[in-house]
Amino acid sequence: MTYDYIIAGAGAAGCILANRLSASGKHTVLLLEAGGKDSSLWFKIPVGFAKMYYNPTFNWMYYSQPQKQLNNREIYAPRGKVQGGSGSINAMIFVRGQAHDFDDWAANGNEGWGFKDVLPYFRKLENHPLGDSEYHGGSGPISITPMKGQTHPICDVFLKGCDELGYPHSDDFNGPTFEGSGIYDVNTRKGQRCSSSFAHLHPALSRPNLTVELHALVDRVIFDEAQQRATGISVTQNGVVRTFTANKEVILCAGAVDTPKILQLSGVGDQALLAKHAIPLVKHLPAVGQNLQDHLCASYYYKANIPTLNDQLSSLFGQFKLGLKYLLTRKGALAMSVNQAGGFFRGNEAQAYPNLQLYFNPLSYQIPKNNKASLKPEPYSGFLLCFNPCRPTSRGAIEIASKNPRDAALIDPN
Ligand SMILES: Cc1cc2nc3c(=O)[nH]c(=O)nc-3n(C[C@H](O)[C@H](O)[C@H](O)COP(=O)(O)OP(=O)(O)OC[C@H]3O[C@@H](n4cnc5c(N)ncnc54)[C@H](O)[C@@H]3O)c2cc1C
Repeated sequence: MTYDYIIAGAGAAGCILANRLSASGKHTVLLLEAGGKDSSLWFKIPVGFAKMYYNPTFNWMYYSQPQKQLNNREIYAPRGKVQGGSGSINAMIFVRGQAHDFDDWAANGNEGWGFKDVLPYFRKLENHPLGDSEYHGGSGPISITPMKGQTHPICDVFLKGCDELGYPHSDDFNGPTFEGSGIYDVNTRKGQRCSSSFAHLHPALSRPNLTVELHALVDRVIFDEAQQRATGISVTQNGVVRTFTANKEVILCAGAVDTPKILQLSGVGDQALLAKHAIPLVKHLPAVGQNLQDHLCASYYYKANIPTLNDQLSSLFGQFKLGLKYLLTRKGALAMSVNQAGGFFRGNEAQAYPNLQLYFNPLSYQIPKNNKASLKPEPYSGFLLCFNPCRPTSRGAIEIASKNPRDAALIDPN
């Protein structure tokens, strides 16, 4: 089968590309995804995050290589394996990068990537309840819901604590003030997750020039005889190997872990690594899989001396009340992210910009050791405070473990 464009991976990026490339009706587009449909209600209800966090059907459930610097622990690295990708299982916090992140790109010679250049695209992406303004868009496909005014009362205690410690406050992390404590916005519409699958792909599915193949694991990219140009892709779908040909482009967007893996399996990567796995070399590109930057997230668990969401979720009656509220109003704890408050802070005064992101969750749940449980709230009042660095200084790597596309890549965040 031949298509103009072949997109590998129907994640946050792939769904947008499938929509935009098929919109004119002039091109045929094939979207390939290793996972299945996002039809379960748990992809729509925001609290479904907890159901998908350790669900091997919809989550690749990767682990890092043992990390020497962390007492040889293997760190959990969830990734969505479903239409919508990680955007179907993520926490829906809707925050752009800091302005200076983009300005640094531009300053490094990437013309057109400064904050002023990218802001029009962020505005175009979103449908913000306040409509069009300098920082927001009112008619884009991704609906935004500010959680302000709806969060659990203990979030106000967190905000008050930040005030007392002299930290600034941000009313809108995507507005003029990025730094400080505040309440997050989420990408939801009427209390339901608004992933790029729901916002971009679903409305495009009826187009005759767009084909989606699910449960199709991309094995490798196929190159022309001169090995200069990608001409197609090979997949395994329900045990059958299929090949597809591209008239124009093959676009890899299988995420930060699997995109370099597919390139390496296709013979594009470090020569020595490919030789180790007896993969014929197409192009020696040693940077493929290198310079991995991931924001390690560390969580602190606290017992509280006032009620938290744990108290509501721990009884059947409490769950029933929250469920009923959600059904009747599409509001309440089930309609929100677990990460309700938080913000961007400087770890010390030497920092010119915020270098830490904080997440304050009005409930606490332990990460299970058996990899089977969902995120179950603890049986007492508790809350969680997590943080991650905004710009990690570690540089890690992704490497194939074998030439078998079914084997997970080795992830070493270093
Ligand atoms: C648990 C969690 C919470 C998060 N919380 C937030 C948040 O609150 N806010 C935020 O902004 N970001 C959050 N993120 C990050 C965000 O979801 C990702 O940055 C984003 O989804 C990346 O988009 P992507 O298209 O590059 O990859 P993905 O969305 O991961 O999509 C990649 C797709 O490719 C598919 N694929 C992989 N390999 C193959 C193959 N060989 N063949 C075919 N298909 C393949 C995958 O199944 C997947 O569907 C979170 C991520 C996770 C996992």
